[in-house]
Amino acid sequence: MQLVLASNNGKKLAELQALFSPLGVDLVTQGSLGIGEAEEPHGTFVENALEKARHAARASGRAAIADDSGLCVDALGGAPGVLSARYATLFGGPRTDADNNRVLLANMLAHTDRRARFVCALVAVRSADDPEPLIAFGRWDGELLEAPRGSAGFGYDPLLFIRELSASVAELPAEVKNTVSHRAIAARQMLGLMREVWHLG
Ligand code: IMP
Repeated sequence: MQLVLASNNGKKLAELQALFSPLGVDLVTQGSLGIGEAEEPHGTFVENALEKARHAARASGRAAIADDSGLCVDALGGAPGVLSARYATLFGGPRTDADNNRVLLANMLAHTDRRARFVCALVAVRSADDPEPLIAFGRWDGELLEAPRGSAGFGYDPLLFIRELSASVAELPAEVKNTVSHRAIAARQMLGLMREVWHLG
């Protein structure tokens, strides 16, 4: 079965392809089919992932899968949330990981509760109008550091400390992050749903 991935991110493609291969699923990116990015207008990860999956399915006429992810901070009411990728722009800064991290640390100065988590929603549809989308969700809990630590990964990785691993996410080797992350948790859940509901594998 071929599944259109509603993302052009090569790392996500490789990670998800490895997971879904045993099910006989072949992923192709929407970009390789000439399909542009969908809007992400919603306030929740799951709604945005559904919007992206439906868009890819509608434009390709095939089954599609999409993800939406970000960082949610308890003391900030769940922000940066769905705006994680462009958090600094809300405060007049540029759209870079370093600026997002700087703004987040500044906004946390007044708070002692530093609990936060990475979250990932994965949504798969068999067609644009599929009334029964498969929805998987992963959470990865940690605490925000007061300064960045580590140089691996991307985004907010240097700021999230995982107590059980005694390291920031940016201090973890990619193989470790990719087995325990919010994306890995959601992808494993999606694998189970595809077996159970779509009768794959
Ligand atoms: P996207 O859903 O991959 O576009 O990610 C949205 C944004 O959430 C990214 O630009 C990052 O700022 C943040 N984010 C999502 N996943 C991760 C992660 O694994 N590490 C660090 N930041 C992440």
